[in-house]
Amino acid sequence: MTNDNDLLVRDVRLGGSDRSEAIVIVGGRVQSVGAAPSDWMGPTVDGAGMLALPGLVDGHAHVDKTMWGLPWRGHSADPERGLAGLIDNERSGRRELPSVYERAGALLDAYIERGTTLIRTHVDVDLDNGVSAVEQVRQAADDRAGAIDVQIVAFPQSGMLVAPGTVELLDAAISAGADLVGGIDPAGFDGSPVEHLDAIFAIADRHGCGLDLHLHDRGALGRWEMGQVVDRTRALGLDGKVTVSHAFGLCDGDPSIPSLVERLGAQRISLATVAPGNVDPLPLDLLDQYGVAVCLGQDGIRDLWSPWGDADMLARAGLMGWRAGYRRDADLDRCADIATTRGAAAIGVTDHALVPGGRGDVVLVDAACAAEAVVTSPPRRLVVAAGRVVAGDRARTATDARRLS
Ligand SMILES: [Zn+2]
Repeated sequence: MTNDNDLLVRDVRLGGSDRSEAIVIVGGRVQSVGAAPSDWMGPTVDGAGMLALPGLVDGHAHVDKTMWGLPWRGHSADPERGLAGLIDNERSGRRELPSVYERAGALLDAYIERGTTLIRTHVDVDLDNGVSAVEQVRQAADDRAGAIDVQIVAFPQSGMLVAPGTVELLDAAISAGADLVGGIDPAGFDGSPVEHLDAIFAIADRHGCGLDLHLHDRGALGRWEMGQVVDRTRALGLDGKVTVSHAFGLCDGDPSIPSLVERLGAQRISLATVAPGNVDPLPLDLLDQYGVAVCLGQDGIRDLWSPWGDADMLARAGLMGWRAGYRRDADLDRCADIATTRGAAAIGVTDHALVPGGRGDVVLVDAACAAEAVVTSPPRRLVVAAGRVVAGDRARTATDARRLS
């Protein structure tokens, strides 16, 4: 007896090995990796010797903002007005766009085609639209349940304390389908770091949910804010449920950074990076040393903030390696890991791996090894989510037991 979440993916390679192996998925979970079972009666797909990767993971996206699939629109924010200009440009421009449900859905489909099976997206909550965008992204995600898991962060893009009423909306957004509460530059944008952090941590505490803070504030200010995050995480017992996105304060080589990273690690606070072009990379060796988990994201994708982004996490892993100046396979493998298993762990999903008991998410590509896939970003020939084929040109076939023997 088999079900929709059973699948044998035969003749694939894992890691840098040349060995042909089979991945057996039962009930959406990896049952075994190794020799193909001779008595398998369920659906089978022939991997044709391709490289198998775990499902790709975007740990920091903004799918509600996208103009994916719409005609090209040149960037229109006023460069003289900085962040405020970007926010105003979005709030006026988005009125002309199709619904969040349609745009986010189109983008999630693109993510699935490109092998992403897990995504954390920040979704705007503001005085104009309330929690509507959260509800629409949740609906788009529910429509694709089984193909991609979507975590929603209620995100006060337009500020929180500078826009009275937003704190209450963030609270309501958790009830409306958001999984985590967000925040944005408590000092640099919202102007009251203590009050800002107190408010969002109170929401996380009240709902027992996670927290993911946008922190672009740089230098000593950003580091001080991260210290405040550490203190509140410890005080409320939220260790393992807090992420700092961007964390530019860790990127300038200041001698105080190692002790701060140690404190982040002690509270299992994870970090998200989008491999930005205008800030030095996160100190990955130091983060490894103190066990700080890191995920990778696209950030905005073809939106009113930026024309960049393509929903391709292998390409973004390549960008991460390029920005860091990586050349060796071991370093490029680390980028692949951050775009898959390790990135998933950073957003609280610890079973996203091609090992027995792991989620049955498999992406097949034509590449010798993960390092080559990071550099070349090859087409996704097969995408499997929890044992179900959801994309790719490798057809799922009925079992032919003789062929497997
Ligand atoms: Zn962001």
